Amino acid sequence: MTIDHDLHTHTVLSACSHDPAATPANMIEAAADAGLATVGFSNHMWDSQIPGASPWYAPQSFEHISQIRQEMPADTNGVRVLVGCETEYCGDGRVGISRAVADALDYVLIPFSHFHMKGFVEPPGIENPEQVGDLMVRRCSEVLELGLATGLAHPFLPCGHRDSTDEILATISDDAFAACFRQAARCEVSIEITTGFFPSLTDGELPGCHDIGFLRMLSIAKEAGCWFHFASDTHSLAGVGVVTRLAGHVKDLGIREDDILPLARRA
Ligand SMILES: [Zn+2]
Ligand SMILES: [Zn+2]
Repeated sequence: MTIDHDLHTHTVLSACSHDPAATPANMIEAAADAGLATVGFSNHMWDSQIPGASPWYAPQSFEHISQIRQEMPADTNGVRVLVGCETEYCGDGRVGISRAVADALDYVLIPFSHFHMKGFVEPPGIENPEQVGDLMVRRCSEVLELGLATGLAHPFLPCGHRDSTDEILATISDDAFAACFRQAARCEVSIEITTGFFPSLTDGELPGCHDIGFLRMLSIAKEAGCWFHFASDTHSLAGVGVVTRLAGHVKDLGIREDDILPLARRA
């Protein structure tokens, strides 16, 4: 199957993008050059109708990310463009998006492992790989119960603990993964396959993180009957098209066109 979409990209509207060239026009042109049929913009967003935004999220409201509509080029080179968001889940049912805003977007990605946000997403007292693993399993299930996500952003990628990724994933049993992914399949929430899972496709090497960990996880998700979408999570123009590097792993996982989230399929 061809990797012809990227549903997780950030433009310079996201506070963590430092690339002024990461505009919709440039990124759409690069997507066309890379042979992508669909590109989705998923800037970070905390809905101002929901109290409790962190200082980092507060300016990144729905109104803020909606500026993208004015920035859109008239000609998209045949690329289908979707406008979504990556919001936030902080545990205990606290999520950064209302139903009204979710309905106003083409899709919603919810991450549950932005543990670099200490004290906001990661509670105090998370000290060892087992605790990180347990927390992700619990948060995954909670996010699915919200009924707001189209897809999970980089599921089980332990941000803030990247150099212990292998160890953390090893604490999550096949059964625990299977329970999460059966729930996702039931809720029709798509599992993201991001290049960030696979250091060999991007940085070359990341201590404590090897491709095999997420390949095990994704093979369990495939077995559970999940939908999938592809992602680069790029925050720069240069990252557009990197998503196509997933092809080999996707083939090995046996993922086919009918396993893809319908929204992401070629029209
Ligand atoms: Zn993220
Ligand atoms: Zn992202």
